[in-house]
Amino acid sequence: MGGADDCAVYETVSAVCLEGLRAEDLEGFLKAACERLAKAIGADLYKVLRYEGGDSFSVILHGGFDRPPKKSLRGRTKAEYTLREGKPVVSTDLERESRFETSEDLKRLKVKSGISLPLIVKGSNWGVLSFFFKRRRELSEEEVKFLQKAAELISGFVEKFEDLFMRGCILEKSPCIVYIAEAKPPRLENLLYVSPNLKTILGWTREDIYPDWWVDNLHPEDREKALQNVEKLKREGEVYHVYRFRKRDGSYAWIKAYGKVMEKIRGTYKVVGYWTDVTELKEQTDLFETLTQNAPVAIFLYREKFLYANPAGLELTGYSLEELKEKFVWDLVPEKHKEGVKEIVRRRINCEKILKEYTDFEVIRKDGDKRIVRLYADTVKYKGGCAGLAVGIDITKQKELEAELLKITFYDPLTGLPNRLFFLEELKSYINLAARRREYLAVVVLDLNRFRYVNASYGTKAGDAVLREVARRLKRILRESDIVGRFFADEFGIIVGGLRRKKDITVVVNKIRSIFDQPFTVNSHTVHLNANYGVSVYPNDGESAQDLLRKAELALRASKEVGEGAVYFYSKDIEKETVEEAILRISLKDALERGEFILYYQPIFRLYDRKIIGVEALLRWQHPELGLISPVRFIPIAENTGLIIKLGYFVLDKALEDISKIRKKGYDLFVGINFSARQFSDEKLLSKIEKTLKKHRVKGGHLLFEITESTAMRDPEKSKEILKSLKDMGIKIAIDDFGTGYSSMNYLIEFDVDKIKIDKSFVLAMMEKERAKSVVKTIIDLSHSIGAVALAEGIETEEQLRELVNLDCDEGQGYLISPPVDYNRLMELLESYGGSAEGGSR
Ligand code: C2E
Ligand code: CA
Ligand code: CA
Repeated sequence: MGGADDCAVYETVSAVCLEGLRAEDLEGFLKAACERLAKAIGADLYKVLRYEGGDSFSVILHGGFDRPPKKSLRGRTKAEYTLREGKPVVSTDLERESRFETSEDLKRLKVKSGISLPLIVKGSNWGVLSFFFKRRRELSEEEVKFLQKAAELISGFVEKFEDLFMRGCILEKSPCIVYIAEAKPPRLENLLYVSPNLKTILGWTREDIYPDWWVDNLHPEDREKALQNVEKLKREGEVYHVYRFRKRDGSYAWIKAYGKVMEKIRGTYKVVGYWTDVTELKEQTDLFETLTQNAPVAIFLYREKFLYANPAGLELTGYSLEELKEKFVWDLVPEKHKEGVKEIVRRRINCEKILKEYTDFEVIRKDGDKRIVRLYADTVKYKGGCAGLAVGIDITKQKELEAELLKITFYDPLTGLPNRLFFLEELKSYINLAARRREYLAVVVLDLNRFRYVNASYGTKAGDAVLREVARRLKRILRESDIVGRFFADEFGIIVGGLRRKKDITVVVNKIRSIFDQPFTVNSHTVHLNANYGVSVYPNDGESAQDLLRKAELALRASKEVGEGAVYFYSKDIEKETVEEAILRISLKDALERGEFILYYQPIFRLYDRKIIGVEALLRWQHPELGLISPVRFIPIAENTGLIIKLGYFVLDKALEDISKIRKKGYDLFVGINFSARQFSDEKLLSKIEKTLKKHRVKGGHLLFEITESTAMRDPEKSKEILKSLKDMGIKIAIDDFGTGYSSMNYLIEFDVDKIKIDKSFVLAMMEKERAKSVVKTIIDLSHSIGAVALAEGIETEEQLRELVNLDCDEGQGYLISPPVDYNRLMELLESYGGSAEGGSR
């Protein structure tokens, strides 16, 4: 090969290069390159063997054979020898070759000469390229050099193809479009090669491509950036970028592009790279990014250490993502929770399904500050394993606000005591406790008296000090478990729990009252204060907190009407009362002081001769506006407010005083006095009666003690005792309103009563109904059988009187002889009839 041949060599090598650049796959390239080289040196056959390791080769390409040569070769073959030599091996007489064994195929075809060249890729044996001649052929040194150069070029392209293979991009099905381009920045021009999956991925075919095809199809918004990246490719030799690229159908795909400069010749860059359609991924990551980056909630992904945190998560913890990734999850929680968190995290990593739940969690920031986070955590799948996912919101501020709000809503700022609202809440749980333990519970509401006076005379500051002192004193005398609350200005509430017996309530109430024994010091002045109290008791008065508190407050109101310092226990009556009754109750409290009570007397006479033998004292209230008020209306109120005790002694005193006067005037009469249940259980009753009898020099025998069956039967044993003592004083006893209540024959005998007063309702009904008459008869007979006198009430007509005489009744009273009258009228009556009612009204 001479000078002309030099040109041919150059041309062939260039062509091989171009083949390499254009070829779509390795096989196509090798075939084209071998054909060209064989032609150039006039070879008849060629073979490309791939080295398989050891002494094994496989034929991957061949040309000029009459039938396919043997696929695999082993042993001391020419190829094996060539690789061992590591340089071109020329054989001019293959039939006489001794260095290696010529293959059967070559022997059969009587091949005379040949050259084998090692293909070395990345420094290791890749294969062997061989050319054969049927005639004897001497190869010149230049020819060998030329082939050697060609083999090196082929190796280089093989290496590049292998590289692309390694990247997994050369396959048709690959998601990567491989390209080789010549670039003259800022343009990517002259796309030398594009892998055929360009069509399946972007719809374009090679025929569509023209020099500015790439630039023209970039999304206008991304074009500038993409071209800048080509600049970068020139500077740095490699670039990754993402841009939108128009598909053949006009829609845009997100392309992730990679480019690497392979060669640089005079300002032209040969670039190999690939494009991947990442539209779907991009959309997903876009969504992910949008969600996580902008979410106002903190998001964490973790195994033992943190794997990920979004910006809100980083802001919450104060760490950067890099710092956080070095932290164990439990590094961020308070000491007391560390073990628990460790345990839960480990269980999550083990893919245990732990209940997803919201918890309020304390997180310790990088700066040591604490944050309260409302957290939702779950076990999730992540990168082939399980991890913990936690989503949380910082509720520190909210919690602080809540606490502040709680304070405002539930506590009285002045005394720090629970307010009415919180008191009610507490009361609810105390009721539950009392119910479980079967205990009593008392709600005491107290209201200071004369507090307004403290405020007015010493100022509100002094008033506040007094209120705080009251709170302090109450707390001191009560048990730790009792609750003290402040409701309004000077109204306090107390829950007294754990009461085994009902009477313990009185003990506690007295203790509460004792806080006012000591005066208060206000601006160095000494002020005496007291309070009124309303009490309701669980379970007797109510079962709900609302109800109990309302009733205690009602009782408090009622107590104020009784007087300063009074305690009022709730009773049903204060609820049923009408406005008029309320007015009565209010004006009742000082009616006694104002002298509005007077005694009326109703004569009691013997039926057979109508002789007046006694009187019954009946109380009247002379109300300044409402006029004369019946005891039926005010006695029950007086009983409730406790006023009945005082009032009762007034009646006792006045009636005995009057009867003493009457007797002094020569009328031998007794006086009947009514005693109610509350009076009957008064400890001082006996001594008071004794004293009053003495005071007015009245003998016990001139007093008729009237109680109803119901009062006597309330505590029969106790009644027996009292009645016995009364009898010991010579006092006579009458059972009032007989027949209307419950009584027991047994006790009637034991009580040893002197009189039985037949209720007026029987006397009234007696004339109409036979049955009522027989009841009256029975009572009369019963009285006689126990040695008592029968007295009929409410005798209004002569017929009634006659009938009662017939029935053997002993005594009576009623409008027929006289209604109740005042003292003066009674005296007139007695004077005109001379102590006998006989012929009086007739
Ligand atoms: P009581 O002890 O049954 O008194 C008899 C009542 O019958 C009196 O009513 C009297 O006015 C009335 N009365 C008398 N004669 C007739 C008649 O012919 N027909 C009718 N329909 N009624 C007649 P009063 O005075 O309104 O007293 C009512 C009740 O008040 C008494 O019933 C008594 O339980 C109570 N009471 C009155 N004074 C006192 C008192 O000083 N202390 C106490 N604890 N209770 C008293
Ligand atoms: Ca009576
Ligand atoms: Ca009566």
